[in-house]
Amino acid sequence: MKNIKWKVGRNILLIIFVFMQHAYAQNLNTTSLTPKKISDGLYLIDNFGCNIAVSVGSDGLLIIDSGLSNKADQVKSAIKEVSADSIKFILNTHFHFDHVGGNKKLVNKKSVVIAHNNVSKRMKIEWNPPEILGTKWPKISPYGKSALPEICFSDSLTIYFNDDTIKCFHFPQAHSDCDAIFCFKKANVIHTGDLFLSNGFPVIDIFAGGGTINGYLDAVSKIIALCDDKTIIVPGHGPLSDRNQLLEYLNMLASSKERIAELIKQGKTLEEMVAAESISDLYKRGKSWLNPKLFIYTTYYELIKH
Ligand SMILES: [Zn+2]
Repeated sequence: MKNIKWKVGRNILLIIFVFMQHAYAQNLNTTSLTPKKISDGLYLIDNFGCNIAVSVGSDGLLIIDSGLSNKADQVKSAIKEVSADSIKFILNTHFHFDHVGGNKKLVNKKSVVIAHNNVSKRMKIEWNPPEILGTKWPKISPYGKSALPEICFSDSLTIYFNDDTIKCFHFPQAHSDCDAIFCFKKANVIHTGDLFLSNGFPVIDIFAGGGTINGYLDAVSKIIALCDDKTIIVPGHGPLSDRNQLLEYLNMLASSKERIAELIKQGKTLEEMVAAESISDLYKRGKSWLNPKLFIYTTYYELIKH
């Protein structure tokens, strides 16, 4: 009797194990993506935490941002689909874990990580933002040396690579205090990092990253000035975009800030604004990836400081 029970139990475990293996394989299949062509020699890998841009050519391989740490192996395989080279440069748009998390696994002995000075400072200390309206991002421990930038810049930097000129510009106190955008002049492509999300409201890291709403709006308007009608914009998250959508984003954020300021003047509390999602009608592109409540919360705290 005891023996039969054990056999039944073992078979159930076996079925569960096979089922889990199948589910895991399915999950891998659905999350392994082929890089999408942005322009000649430039590719986009998305859904690995953030939008990763890949430059391929005679000088080698350069990527912008590295995604989440637990997706780095998938990013590696995706990159291999467009180039057999090993990575020469990783450019980081800022220090958040969904943008630099893959650095450690993607670097090799010859690759160099490049970012703004404050990316290096922030990656060397713990990041532990407070819980905001039930959302708590994971506490991130300091990164090891191999993941850290080796070349840093303060305001701007120019990189000549793969027959293009990559202009790197820093925008202070915006999404964080270490944001940079990367402009491919010949390809007319700009990677904005989280200074633009084409799929919803941003979260501005005012509590643990040195971001400000005014700095954010200022950065977005300066990026618009760098674009023309044909510029392809790679946002930090969301589909590829263009100047018109960036302009729409700026107006939406400026109106949201104005409305929150007005409601504060009228005596509305943060709780009332959050409950009413007082700015959600200003976002015209379906459901925002990030809840507008988070934007209300951060904007409120910034506005009441002044
Ligand atoms: Zn970010």
